[in-house]
Amino acid sequence: MFQGKTPLENKGEKYRLDILLPFLDRFINRFDTWSHQAIIKNKLQYLRVKPGDDNHEVMSLELIQAHIAGDTTLSVYATDEFYCSKWCCWDADEGVTGLDEVEDVLRKMGLNPIREGARPGRDGHMWLFFREPIPAQELIDFNSELRDVLQLDSRLEFYPAADKNGYCGRFSQMRLPLGTHRKSGAEMCRGLFAGAESDTDSQLEFINSQPFDAVMPVKRIARLGAAKRKKLEVERIAEETRRQAERQRQRYEPFEKVDLLKVIPPNERKLRKGWWITRCPACAESGHDSSGDNLHINADDGTFFKCWEGHVSGGHTTLEIIRACA
Ligand SMILES: [Zn+2]
Repeated sequence: MFQGKTPLENKGEKYRLDILLPFLDRFINRFDTWSHQAIIKNKLQYLRVKPGDDNHEVMSLELIQAHIAGDTTLSVYATDEFYCSKWCCWDADEGVTGLDEVEDVLRKMGLNPIREGARPGRDGHMWLFFREPIPAQELIDFNSELRDVLQLDSRLEFYPAADKNGYCGRFSQMRLPLGTHRKSGAEMCRGLFAGAESDTDSQLEFINSQPFDAVMPVKRIARLGAAKRKKLEVERIAEETRRQAERQRQRYEPFEKVDLLKVIPPNERKLRKGWWITRCPACAESGHDSSGDNLHINADDGTFFKCWEGHVSGGHTTLEIIRACA
């Protein structure tokens, strides 16, 4: 599992419980599963260790020690078994801004953000640590409210994150600070905290001495984000219900076929692979389709067309498009 020494080989060496235990306590949300970096076929990957594996190993002080010594590079999960988190983290990759603005607001809220892993051109990570675990959904709502108010770059990542099925923080993980990044280009650099000397002792002393934040300020902001999220959900469901009803009705309501190639002038459409691409009039009515390419009309038969609505949702029905054209 390890490049270099395994924790078992390390067992003879004494680890410094007083320094490593607070570090583990701060970052580890769950002990049964974690990941580590490995280079496989020249590609950096995170291999997950989980119950049921052969020689399954739980998170331990030995592993933390191996990580800090550079013998392995750990990545840890953002939530515990109940999808609650002891920390949250913003991640600004190369060319992504916003950490300074977020830090400013967090400090005004009386919180204590900690920066780590900055390299030239890259702002790195910013962590908050809490006195007690917070449900990942609340942290996500907290971030989305900040994102909204500060108009943040959408590329500024935040963990725990929701996966595409809406499970909050289920597979979110962060590379544990003070480890050696094995990615090529990162030149085996270590994730160091800003505000302390770069030697391991100073770094550990610094992070171990940082206060934990109260959860209430975060929860209060999260409530605002949650209200917006719920409102959007209600609107989305209402819109989908309306669409379904419209489709259902249309199925039984006969209507004249319309040849859109006769309705939409040739200079307002572009031919691409047998389809005319143009602005969808139904989308345009609601202020959408800014790039003007939602409606696809079959080049051989202008009565056969479809609104893709950004390829995201089902698009407009035939009847809606015909009505918008009239
Ligand atoms: Zn449309």
